[in-house]
Amino acid sequence: MTDADRRTRWRPATVAVRSGPGEEPDTGAIVFPVFQTATFAQAEPGGSPPWCYARTGNPTRSALEEALAAVEGARHGLAFASGLAAATTVLLSLRAGDRVVAGADLYGGAWRLFTKVFAPLGIRFDFADTTDPAALAEALARPAALLWLESPSNPLLRVTDLAAAADLGRRAGALVLVDNTFATPVLQRPLALGADVVLHSTTKYLNGHGDVLGGALLCDDDGVHGRLRFLQNAAGAVPGPQDCFLVLRGLRTLELRVARQVAAAERVARFLDGHPGVARTWYPGLPSHPGHGLARRQMRGFGAMVSFDLRGGEAAARAVLRGLRLFTLAESLGGVRSLVCHPPTMTHASVEPEVRRERGIGDGLLRLSVGCEDPEDLLEDLAEALGEARP
Ligand code: PLP
Repeated sequence: MTDADRRTRWRPATVAVRSGPGEEPDTGAIVFPVFQTATFAQAEPGGSPPWCYARTGNPTRSALEEALAAVEGARHGLAFASGLAAATTVLLSLRAGDRVVAGADLYGGAWRLFTKVFAPLGIRFDFADTTDPAALAEALARPAALLWLESPSNPLLRVTDLAAAADLGRRAGALVLVDNTFATPVLQRPLALGADVVLHSTTKYLNGHGDVLGGALLCDDDGVHGRLRFLQNAAGAVPGPQDCFLVLRGLRTLELRVARQVAAAERVARFLDGHPGVARTWYPGLPSHPGHGLARRQMRGFGAMVSFDLRGGEAAARAVLRGLRLFTLAESLGGVRSLVCHPPTMTHASVEPEVRRERGIGDGLLRLSVGCEDPEDLLEDLAEALGEARP
């Protein structure tokens, strides 16, 4: 059996720890080094050296791209300066007049990028409830250049049937993109379900330590990869080598972290679901969640994000935020440290209030990113902040 054959049989934890170029060939260093250089000496003018200028390519970035592709089960990987830099690069492949169909419940920054940056350039965005097959089929009854899916979505953790949606998207002529940031490749593999491109904010779980901004695009098709790679260089939203090194280091523990975070999130969701101050808990692992059955089939775990609506609205949300000690009030998610955010005034503040209300993002909504602390401590923190003794 060749080394390549062996690699294709590795399980997710092994891929996370061992993917990428392996030992550095000149020294045998087991950790791939940081090539902190902007350019590379060339032997002659007009040749095609493997490395020429660090926007076009840098060995540390390539090591990360190779590892990210392996972790997502993709043939190609491209790294970017942030998740939104990756999103921008995909949108730059469109032309004025093109139509994009996107999920209605999606990250507020993506909404802002679509409606405030690319819509004025002549790209048309239609938002649909992608969790409703009839609504999605109606939105895709007309041709589209791009179908943009997020599942589980931000902040209500709605679940879309990715295989069915990808099929509808392809028939409408669309490139099908799935933002897999919330699920992570440990729990969900959109390319195997028919997506063309997977997007990650590596700022979140893939790096996992809250110390880097980054993004990634993963795909199988050579043509799609060629187009995106051209735009990566032409538009230039690339990450620096130090950040690539840190994301690669974070990736090594991805499977470990996600397994622990999911187990803790399940307990947190059950606790919140039974709490009298909570009107509704949004977590795909709860049988009451509308996407529970689908998530069970489509994912290998329900994720570590939990949102909940407080009966007392915004005043109650603010009181809980004042009481929490271990859940730090901050934007972002997916790291070892637990975070909490108030989507209507933070991640989704750029979404107009009437649109937020229409999408079910109430003023009493809080979103938790469950980290790697001891779950008992997290439950105690929540119980205290919610003004109740621990169950
Ligand atoms: N996609 C999702 C689901 C996100 O939550 C975020 C950021 O919160 C992004 C994309 C954008 O990523 P970044 O902040 O790295 O630009």
